[in-house]
Amino acid sequence: MSQTETLILDGNAVADGIKAQLFARIAGLAEKGITPCLATILVGDDPSSATYVRMKGNACRKLGMTSIRVDLPADTTTEELVAAIRELNADKSVHGILLQHPVPHGIDERAAFEAIAIEKDVDGVTMLGFAQNAFGFADYPSCTPAAVMAILDYYQLPVQGRHAVVIGRSPILGKPVSAMLLNADATVTTCHSRTTDLPAIVKLADIVVAAVGKPNFVQGDWIKPGAVVLDAGYNPGNVGDVDYEACLANAAAITPVPAGVGPVTIATLLKHTVDAAEKFGTYRKE
Ligand code: NAP
Repeated sequence: MSQTETLILDGNAVADGIKAQLFARIAGLAEKGITPCLATILVGDDPSSATYVRMKGNACRKLGMTSIRVDLPADTTTEELVAAIRELNADKSVHGILLQHPVPHGIDERAAFEAIAIEKDVDGVTMLGFAQNAFGFADYPSCTPAAVMAILDYYQLPVQGRHAVVIGRSPILGKPVSAMLLNADATVTTCHSRTTDLPAIVKLADIVVAAVGKPNFVQGDWIKPGAVVLDAGYNPGNVGDVDYEACLANAAAITPVPAGVGPVTIATLLKHTVDAAEKFGTYRKE
C-alpha cells in the first residue's frame, strides 16, 4: 500500500465527536445545580506530568466543567497521598478523581490507586475497575484503552476476528486494552519486555497497539501491509512509540502523535466525569 492511501486516524475529530455529545448533558446537569467536577492529583514536579494535568484541567473548563487541582510535593508519603484521596472521596462536589501516573518512587502507587472510591474512579485504575473492565461491564474503563477502542469504533475499523498485538502490559494501558480488544472478539497477543522475537509477532497483527513508553520503538518493517496501527505512546517532545513515517508505508490506517490517541484519552476522561456526575450528582451519605 502506498503512503497516500494510508488513512490517518484523526484523534481530534474523534475527541470532538465525544465532546459534542457532552455539552447538552452538562447543560442538563447545570439546570439541576450540578457542575461535573474532576479532581486531578499531581505528586512531584515532573514537567510532562504537570503538562498532562494542566491539559486535563483546561479541557474541563472549556466544556463548562470544574477541575480541582491537588499538587503535592515529591516527598509526600503514601499515607499523606491516601489521606488526600480520601478527602476527595468524601467531597460531594467531586465526581471524578485522577491520580497522575507515575507517582514518585517511594510512594506505593497501587495503595494510592486503591484509595480512590470506585464511583469516582473515572480512569479505571482501581483493581475493581480493572476487573470490571476485564469482565466487559466497567462504567469507567481506563481512558487510554477506551480511547483506542473509540478510534477503532469511530472509523468503523473491524475488530472481530482480527489478530490484535498489544505491545505493553501495564495495568493502566496494555492489559486493559488487551481485555477490551478480547471483549470485542479480537484474537489478542500481549507482548512485553521479555517477549521473544517481537518483530515477528507484530508482523502477524491486523491491529497493532503500541503502549511501550519508548520513542519511535515500532519499526516500519514490523508492520504487515494493511494493518491498523494505534500509537498510545507519548514521550517527551510529542513523540509516539511508533516510528510514524516508517510505518506509514505498510499501515492501512495509523494514529499520529500528537493528535492521535492523546486527545481522545482526555475527551474520554471528561465523558466519564460527566457520566459520574449524572450518576452520583447528589451523593448518598457514606
Ligand atoms: P509502562 O508502565 O512503563 O509499561 C510499558 C510496557 O512496555 C511494559 O509492559 C513493558 O514490559 C513494555 N516494554 C518495555 N520495553 C519493551 C520492549 N523492549 N519490548 C516489548 N515491550 C516492552 O508504561 P505505560 O504507563 O503503559 O505507558 C506506555 C506509553 O503510553 C508511554 O509512552 C506513555 O506515555 C503512554 N501513555 C499515553 C497516554 C495517552 O493519553 N496517550 C496515557 C497513558 C500512557 P514489562 O512489563 O515486561 O516491563
